Amino acid sequence: MSAAVTLAAAGRSVLVVEGRDTVGGGTRTAELTLPGFRHDVCSAIHPLAAGSPYLSQLPLERYGLRWLQPELPLAHPLDGGRAGVLHRSVDETADGLGADAKAYRRWVGSIAERWDDLAPMVTGSLVKVPRHPLVLTRFGLPALVPASRAGRTWFSTDEAQALFAGCAAHAFLPLDHLLTTSFALVLLAAGHAVGWPVAAGGSQAIADALAAHLTELGGEIRTGELITSLAQLPPSRAVLLDLAPRQVADLAGDRLSERYRARLRQFSPGPAAFKVDYALSGPVPWTNVACRRAGTVHAGGTADEVAAGEAAIGAGRPPERPYVLVAQQSLVDPSRAPAGQHTLWAYCHVPNGSTFDMTERIEAQIERFAPGFRDLVLARHVAGPAWFESYNPSYVGGDIAGGAHRGLQLVFRPTISVRPYHTPDPTLFLCSASTPPGAGVHGMCGHHAANAALASVLA
Ligand SMILES: Cc1cc2nc3c(=O)[nH]c(=O)nc-3n(C[C@H](O)[C@H](O)[C@H](O)COP(=O)(O)OP(=O)(O)OC[C@H]3O[C@@H](n4cnc5c(N)ncnc54)[C@H](O)[C@@H]3O)c2cc1C
Repeated sequence: MSAAVTLAAAGRSVLVVEGRDTVGGGTRTAELTLPGFRHDVCSAIHPLAAGSPYLSQLPLERYGLRWLQPELPLAHPLDGGRAGVLHRSVDETADGLGADAKAYRRWVGSIAERWDDLAPMVTGSLVKVPRHPLVLTRFGLPALVPASRAGRTWFSTDEAQALFAGCAAHAFLPLDHLLTTSFALVLLAAGHAVGWPVAAGGSQAIADALAAHLTELGGEIRTGELITSLAQLPPSRAVLLDLAPRQVADLAGDRLSERYRARLRQFSPGPAAFKVDYALSGPVPWTNVACRRAGTVHAGGTADEVAAGEAAIGAGRPPERPYVLVAQQSLVDPSRAPAGQHTLWAYCHVPNGSTFDMTERIEAQIERFAPGFRDLVLARHVAGPAWFESYNPSYVGGDIAGGAHRGLQLVFRPTISVRPYHTPDPTLFLCSASTPPGAGVHGMCGHHAANAALASVLA
């Protein structure tokens, strides 16, 4: 959608073709459990959208998009009623981390201060020369370090280490991998700079606002047209594909060389998601009170436990005690559930293609930090890797992050190239989460791909 808006705003005539009956992709909202309970099917929490250099400058509020900021962006509970807590303010966060206050200000506060310079760098193509080398040095060198080492070296309290590890685990990687620290630093800094908001009414509001903006710019959207061959598309000067590399290889046929298609097929998917959505009769009774005020809760235990869970996935095993990402949108958005009742969004990582049912393990982790949680469950909707792949073929084996973040694939996506949005066919472009900067609702893959087309075949 952001590619389409970029092209339409540049005066090009644009057609968006969507396989399903509604637009939205990873930002749909639906009544998955009971009538009146509106669940975010995929994305829920939007620091990357609110902090996106592209989306944040579009007039999306004119088309109904409204960010709601939870009282606290994030809490990470520990046994005994303790928690590491991310506040909007760096000082409050640091002060809550006791002996780690100074270290938090040094490693995270200094980056949060420079968010406006950092955001374009981390959401750009990482192969570009940085515009602010000083910021990149302050962020980039520490960001390279594996999160397990950085967390242990920089912080000494369980709370700070767990808060840091929980954010690093968004990498979908074992925490002893290079660059896992970058995920923690970006997400923590974004929490201070732009918050971790939810979209009023549900994430669908993001796609709907983009669609309305596109239509007003003259773009056309056709839904319910699944593309299985590029021959189905009308003639055009350029085609941008928001698809996994494997789908591109299948669809493109001999518009792309066999060699390039083989490279696309070599692109490895990452671990998968296993998600449970709940309709609840009341708010989650977290033992730690900060967790009751936080939009997001990372229910994963200590940093060592989070690391062990992610390492198990790296070794192909579903974790015994998963690191569970929990979102409590209805705390801040009453439109998500009937009065007094709540929705809960929870998922954990599992190996790609896993068929193991994680429902019990996810609930055990929530119950561990919120005794009595199970008594509130009115209904649940369970979505494992196979469900995600059938929901959207781009989620290969249930991978919701557009491909593994291992090694060079984190930076060079989907092939090793300094022109990641181009293909050997000058009229065919890639714009999915398998291109830089990767997954997340930030619109930057599409925006960069559209600019690549505008600078070449659409010039
Ligand atoms: C469970 C889950 C939780 C997530 N949580 C967050 C979060 O909290 N915050 C965040 O920022 N990100 C989150 N994400 C990631 C985010 O949703 C995605 O990275 C983002 O939506 C990718 O956007 P996209 O437009 O590139 O692709 P998509 O959103 O996948 O859109 C691609 C569209 O193409 C359509 N399509 C696919 N194949 C075809 C075809 N052959 N023909 C026609 N149409 C086709 C699909 O139906 C889909 O609508 C989450 C994702 C999941 C699944």
